[in-house]
Amino acid sequence: MEERLFHKLFLDELKDIYWAEKHLVKNLPKLVKAATTNELKDAISNHLRETEEQVKKVERVFELLGEKAQAKKCDAMSGLVEEASSIIDETDKGTYTRDAALITAAQKVEHYEIASYGSLTAMAKVMGHDDAATILDEILEEEKNADTGLSDLAERSINERANNE
Ligand code: ZN
Ligand code: FE
Ligand code: FE
Ligand code: FE
Repeated sequence: MEERLFHKLFLDELKDIYWAEKHLVKNLPKLVKAATTNELKDAISNHLRETEEQVKKVERVFELLGEKAQAKKCDAMSGLVEEASSIIDETDKGTYTRDAALITAAQKVEHYEIASYGSLTAMAKVMGHDDAATILDEILEEEKNADTGLSDLAERSINERANNE
């Protein structure tokens, strides 16, 4: 087992995002339920399924590193999910404004994930953990696609409708 400080930092970041992904699996269903449009419900549901797979992918990364999968509380993701819950309380059910707000909250989550997986991929590469880097980079692309999909949805329909209600 590696003991270097940089490797330990990498592992700590991995434990953080592992906690974050599992937290999302638990909490994304609330967002699906709260969404107004089927388009947003579908987008979040699809990413929830992808997130379930990401939990397994991160477990595979731990395995490749010869470590047992361990979660360490991510205060940032905990806070982002809390914000999403407040948004549900502060917007009216059945409105497009609710969806515009949920998209904003969901994109903040995706951006946190993009930052995390971007850093993790770069660290894995420099340490020569090539198989781990491949998986982390694959997740990074999924997060980027989720983010772009949400932007498209907002710009294609939700914002316009929210602006008119
Ligand atoms: Zn290492
Ligand atoms: Fe994720
Ligand atoms: Fe974190
Ligand atoms: Fe995500």
